[in-house]
Amino acid sequence: MVKICCIGAGYVGGPTMAVIALKCPQIEVAVVDISVSRITAWNSDQLPIYEPGLDDVVKQCRGKNLFFSADVEKHVSVADIIFVSVNTPTKTQGLGAGKAADLTYWESAARMIADVSKSDKIVVEKSTVPVKTAEAIEKILTHNSKGIKFQILSNPEFLAEGTAIQDLFNPDRVLIGGRETPEGTKAIQALKDVYAHWVPVERILCTNLWSAELSKLAANAFLAQRISSVNAMSALCEATGADVSQVSHSIGTDSRIGPKFLNASVGFGGSCFQKDILNLVYICQCNGLPEVANYWKQVIKVNDYQKSRFVNRVVSSMFNTVSGKKIAVLGFAFKKDTGDTRETPAIDVCKGLLGDKARLSIYDPQVTEGQIRRDLSMKKFDWDHPIHLQPNSPTAIKQVSVVWDAYEAVKDSHGICILTEWDEFKTLDYERIYQNMQKPAFVFDGRNIVNADKLRQIGFIVYSIGKPLDP
Ligand code: NAD
Repeated sequence: MVKICCIGAGYVGGPTMAVIALKCPQIEVAVVDISVSRITAWNSDQLPIYEPGLDDVVKQCRGKNLFFSADVEKHVSVADIIFVSVNTPTKTQGLGAGKAADLTYWESAARMIADVSKSDKIVVEKSTVPVKTAEAIEKILTHNSKGIKFQILSNPEFLAEGTAIQDLFNPDRVLIGGRETPEGTKAIQALKDVYAHWVPVERILCTNLWSAELSKLAANAFLAQRISSVNAMSALCEATGADVSQVSHSIGTDSRIGPKFLNASVGFGGSCFQKDILNLVYICQCNGLPEVANYWKQVIKVNDYQKSRFVNRVVSSMFNTVSGKKIAVLGFAFKKDTGDTRETPAIDVCKGLLGDKARLSIYDPQVTEGQIRRDLSMKKFDWDHPIHLQPNSPTAIKQVSVVWDAYEAVKDSHGICILTEWDEFKTLDYERIYQNMQKPAFVFDGRNIVNADKLRQIGFIVYSIGKPLDP
């Protein structure tokens, strides 16, 4: 029986391995993590992450051929294929701080693999890493092992949170990069054989190591760039009377452009887009390509601009001050169908409003009060680009209440900010909401999900991103 071990039981490691276990009943899959609480949650009825369809997949295989364990070394030592799916955040100190990827977790995983391995292994980069990381990993492994052979593969993950299970069941492509040697080719084939259980072979792309590593950074940069492009257009729409939805539709029907990822919004978030672009910027700078670095940096600048533009719009619409006014924040996660708040635009928007002394009442169906308070009390790191939002003080945090119902959040408020596109916000009883709000009642739709005309008929003053302003 082939044995797979995945180091890192997070948003990627957990779902990815659960799907491999489901699709390959003859493979034994162990997911290991140094976080005992995370492993305990994976072994309970309350999984550590919210992802539609995940519970079902885990329930079908857990205890059969899928195991979650904090005994990292035991499972690594016996595995044939080791996926490494640890976090690779942005460095906050030292050389490259604010841009470079922090590979501390990766390096410690690699040293441990070398230490405990007693047989030859395939080590798979599942985490998103800078291009050329495999070279460093090879050095660490070969210099620390006792005659054991390691083949490094790059197999970046392209799933999107909120649709992870769907994406894993039916991926656009699976990318495998490896050394162009007989051993490398053999390792690529071994990993290909795993995916071939459910992924059509023509969707399994094989490249050299560096192309695979760089493709992941490139994919995230391109996706984020589309969002920043349409958001930049949304600002121009507001200035000119054009409607960004009409512009998106018009350009998206061009088959060279395509319709996806053209929704204007308050900005992108999530743990990956900003981190991976910063990393790309750093790699460009290190390779003597400052113009290319500046090009990609602009994607983040526009994203920050969009968030501060939203805050400015809220404050200026509400007669230039939100001081003491209650504002309901609907949605805190960085997108719908996840409880993940990493780099969510809601953090910067809430901080901006708190900076003007608003009182916030926040509701998100999947984010806990503890998480929201933690996120809002964290100081924003200076990413070396202008962000005009205030850092938060402990006093400001007292201006925040977190509630478990949208109607409770909006009661007596002066305005509503919709920051996550949860489906339930589209179908709220806005007549009832209007009755219970201070007047004039404002809606600032940061995701363009409500019917603005209908809300205006009720009496709301509505701001939608990139749309003609309230008449
Ligand atoms: P995560 O923080 O949810 O999970 C990482 C896990 O690794 C944590 O539970 C941590 O405790 C564990 N870990 C760290 N060092 C360890 C060690 N030495 N031994 C054992 N466990 C260790 O991160 P994530 O969102 O799953 O992302 C993982 C990687 O995948 C990152 O590189 C990320 O950029 C990439 N990625 C993420 C997504 C996404 O949507 N979240 C999508 C594609 C790629």
